[in-house]
Amino acid sequence: MKTYIVGNWKLNFSVGEASIYLHKLLKALPNYRDVEVVVAPSTLALQPLSLQIDRHKMKLAAQNAFYRDYGAFTGEISFSQLRGLVDYAIVGHSERRYIFGENDKMIQKKVAAAVRNKITPILCIGETESERAFGETRDVIRDQLMGGLSEVGDDGISKVMVAYEPVWAISSTKAAKLASPDEIAEAVKLIREILTEMYGAKVAEKVPVLFGGSVNSSNAGAYLTVPGVNGLLVGGASLILSEFVDIIGVAKRVES
Ligand code: PEP
Repeated sequence: MKTYIVGNWKLNFSVGEASIYLHKLLKALPNYRDVEVVVAPSTLALQPLSLQIDRHKMKLAAQNAFYRDYGAFTGEISFSQLRGLVDYAIVGHSERRYIFGENDKMIQKKVAAAVRNKITPILCIGETESERAFGETRDVIRDQLMGGLSEVGDDGISKVMVAYEPVWAISSTKAAKLASPDEIAEAVKLIREILTEMYGAKVAEKVPVLFGGSVNSSNAGAYLTVPGVNGLLVGGASLILSEFVDIIGVAKRVES
């Protein structure tokens, strides 16, 4: 399986800044066959960046989209409008869940809409600090994963990626802590067990599972060697070109 490095730029960079960053990133990156590099700029930048990107070197992701294809939904952008423009879409990020009130029902529709429109959803799941403190981590992972995938059948699952992102480890969370490789390994093992229950072992092992939470070039190697982890979802560090390039370099070294 490839190693995936996904940069989530969140609400950062103007369209011009995003274009300059992408230009420098394309220049800095060799064509790594076994490392899939993906960047998720703001929706506004997707169209211009899609004309600029070298798809042999990297792919584009949307940070969010709406699950209905068209209609009276003021302010929304649909997965069908993004079709052909992006290869991936982040779905169910904790900022969408906790700032914008997205629940598992909406997230399951978004995952299904992405798959229907030939866009790979990167389904983000993970417990908050208090859920972990109350011993609810396993239940949260189970609920969010099964909820998110409940409209995805046996053929759709081959087009889905999962990202384990404990909310307490995301750098923008107040007093964020680094997740330990053991904590990640336990969560990823559970994710694979649930996928196996839902789709069988052969299919489950082929679903890429990423880790995200304060990843940088110094800890990327440790996180990428956690059993069952196939890549990283990078927030803050993906905004710093040298850091992001170094993380991709680490992925290449770990992979080969
Ligand atoms: C994220 O928000 O998806 C994330 C992983 O952010 P950071 O790397 O900044 O913790």
